[in-house]
Amino acid sequence: MKDILNFINGEYVSNVSGKTYEKRNPVDNSLIGMVHEAGKPEVDAAVAAAKAALKGPWGKLSVVERCNMLDAIVAEINNRFDDFLQAEIADTGKPATLASHIDIPRGAANFKIFTDTIKNVSTESFEMRTPDGKTARSYGVRTPRGVIAIICPWNLPLLLMTWKCGPALACGNTVVVKPSEATPSTATLLGEVMNKVGVPPGVYNVVNGFGVDSAGSFLTSHPDVNGITFTGETKTGTAIMKAGADGIRPVSLELGGKNAALVFADCDFDNAVATVTRSCFENAGQVCLGTERVYVERPIFDKFVAALKEKAEQMKPGRPFDADTKIGPLVSKIHQKKVLGMYAKAKEEGANIVFGGGIPDMPEELKDGCWVQPTIWTGLPETATVVTEEIFGPCCHIQPFDTEEEVVAMANNNRYGLATSIHTQDISRAMRLASEIEVGLCWINSWFLRDLRTPFGGSKQSGIGREGGVHSLEFYTELRNVMVKY
Ligand code: NAD
Repeated sequence: MKDILNFINGEYVSNVSGKTYEKRNPVDNSLIGMVHEAGKPEVDAAVAAAKAALKGPWGKLSVVERCNMLDAIVAEINNRFDDFLQAEIADTGKPATLASHIDIPRGAANFKIFTDTIKNVSTESFEMRTPDGKTARSYGVRTPRGVIAIICPWNLPLLLMTWKCGPALACGNTVVVKPSEATPSTATLLGEVMNKVGVPPGVYNVVNGFGVDSAGSFLTSHPDVNGITFTGETKTGTAIMKAGADGIRPVSLELGGKNAALVFADCDFDNAVATVTRSCFENAGQVCLGTERVYVERPIFDKFVAALKEKAEQMKPGRPFDADTKIGPLVSKIHQKKVLGMYAKAKEEGANIVFGGGIPDMPEELKDGCWVQPTIWTGLPETATVVTEEIFGPCCHIQPFDTEEEVVAMANNNRYGLATSIHTQDISRAMRLASEIEVGLCWINSWFLRDLRTPFGGSKQSGIGREGGVHSLEFYTELRNVMVKY
């Protein structure tokens, strides 16, 4: 068993309160370690260290020197690939095939894309004549915003944290990271990487703990935090936006979703089934971009439901490193209870359970893990709870439709607007729908295919702001205008 500490000003430290909590492995509920919960004194120390580091050697680096340091972080994450993999898998229980292809490589790539961006970005410049016949030239200068608070969820812990930490550091800020209480390990481990490659103390800090009355709210309400970037639930985003209002601090919010997949009769059927299988069940459905509402054109409805059911049957649950494991557990007992509550609600509201709906039969040694079955429902009205509310589990409701207008109306009839995927061979229709569906991200004949230069974020209650490529600069820098008269 290990101690999971806080990382403040380049050192691993405990806390003055002595408060710890257990971190358990969701695969079998075994104890991984004790997390040292940061209280106000630790959050204050982390923010003070981050503020001081802005004026230290970090603040004096040229862009190229800073980027070289970030390149060294990428190299060191790759050197310690296995340590990150083991830590991420112990915290989340996700299959090794998934974590080794997505979580850890993207965790590193998120630094690389922003060193490429920051080295190549330009600012605008204008010239005008002044009334006294002279000339005035204006130009833009991007300066770091300051101390950035990064508040993260548990579903893709390293990936989603570095998606914010990468651009924050590339732009010259310093950060205080608050990982999810459920997944503290990889953010904490990254402190070792920072020290190894010589990132100055205070530039990267980690405070572990919970949200309300704990490290999360202490951090977001701290007056010396200059910007808050958050990924998580819409309800938490609301609290964070309120915290940001004090002191007029900007917020970047990547929030919940209830994403729809639209499958037309003219789709490439096998590709649509394979893609929707991934979007519903990958990472046990714990992907913000995941699909929980599937709309299928009536002529292929029965065939599609049967094909997805066959795929769900093949999602073998198991240990992360077993070669035949296709799906891991949910992240925690709390989340398992929530998802099973939704499964019960679907039944109560009259769903036809095509597959799943409960806990899979697991071997004795895994029975205490946080398992749920991949689940498919049909037959519910669009007003049913599991059709309107985000579940964040491996499940979907499949609804038939007859016309394009009808399916667009159903897809848009939700408070969220994060992502959609449209499956059709008719490119005109695909392009028409891509502009009609109210989302931040639209995939056509694909899903979760990412080019990190593109804007990422949600519309409606799925978020505020866009991160990715140059779009991240809007949040992580201040754009100052300088005018020279000559
Ligand atoms: P959550 O909102 O419960 O927690 C996220 C983080 O916020 C945690 O670190 C938590 O400790 C902290 N927190 C909670 N209350 C707080 C408060 N009052 N002040 C400060 N911090 C607080 O979310 P979760 O359950 O960890 O993650 C799942 C949610 O995240 C889902 O809704 C999912 O859709 C969303 N998500 C969105 C994206 C996206 O890019 N849009 C990506 C991944 C996950």
